[in-house]
Amino acid sequence: MVRGLPQPVGMPELPDRVTIHEVGPRDGLQNEPVAVPTDVKAELIGRLVAAGLTSVEVASFVHPAWVPQLADAEQLMGLLPASVVEQATVLVPNRRGLERALACGVRHVAVFASATESFAARNLNRSIDQSLAMFTPVVEEARAAGATVRGYLSMCFGDPWEGPVEPSAVVAVGRRLVDMGCGQLSLGDTIGVATPGQVVELLDAFAAAGVGVEHLAVHFHDTYGQALANTFAALQHGVTTVDASAGGLGGCPYAQSATGNLATEDLLWQLHGLGIATGVDLDALVATSCWLADHLGRSSPSRVVAAWRPAPVL
Ligand code: MG
Repeated sequence: MVRGLPQPVGMPELPDRVTIHEVGPRDGLQNEPVAVPTDVKAELIGRLVAAGLTSVEVASFVHPAWVPQLADAEQLMGLLPASVVEQATVLVPNRRGLERALACGVRHVAVFASATESFAARNLNRSIDQSLAMFTPVVEEARAAGATVRGYLSMCFGDPWEGPVEPSAVVAVGRRLVDMGCGQLSLGDTIGVATPGQVVELLDAFAAAGVGVEHLAVHFHDTYGQALANTFAALQHGVTTVDASAGGLGGCPYAQSATGNLATEDLLWQLHGLGIATGVDLDALVATSCWLADHLGRSSPSRVVAAWRPAPVL
């Protein structure tokens, strides 16, 4: 039997190359119920880098009590080769987290903001203004130390407490993160409710506010099966950085669904099918997700992994 591969056929007005920001080891494992041993995380990251992923978010320097799944950030960084640490991204919630990350040799950090007051209150225990005030010195100090800063903006399309979110509200917070010094803004559909028209509307609103697509990444969740349609809309509008999680790691914390983050394998299928270069080896990635699924004790929600995974021997 011939294993399926996407047949590359390009389309006009799409980027030649897309950077995948791989969030599996951080965003994915943070939302998995099972804590993964540190040495398994280190092997996962090594495999992802070996598969060709150049932008991998590997850890979070939050207080260990907040996210027990990621409490081993320092130990994990100590297991990674210096070259991997230097190209990796880590989440830092505050100045203490930044100090810990920089002490490990990290060169790329991310902060996590909310477009809605409800999620800021629940996730950050602060108002939007208070959270931005907390991030300002973090971003300044990171940049002073020579690190790049990515700003996550969550609930960009819908919020489980507030319902639909106005693009103007998202742009207002996003603009402040860019002005603060975030070189890249990752627009998150945290509950996976967006559809392509909303994506285009939001990208247009950012452009009108002077934030071009070169500053924007997209972070879609596949809760309602829309992540790839939304990605395609973003690509047509010039976005060239797309967040994804190997094997679709990380369920959706706000819905009874095993499907949260867009699976990197499913994204690769579309990108490679469109003739868009990624530098990532799909075979190696599927093998990695199958290997990790055994550690997690559950199968991957990725459609590509499911299609390629050998059938169990009955
Ligand atoms: Mg996510």
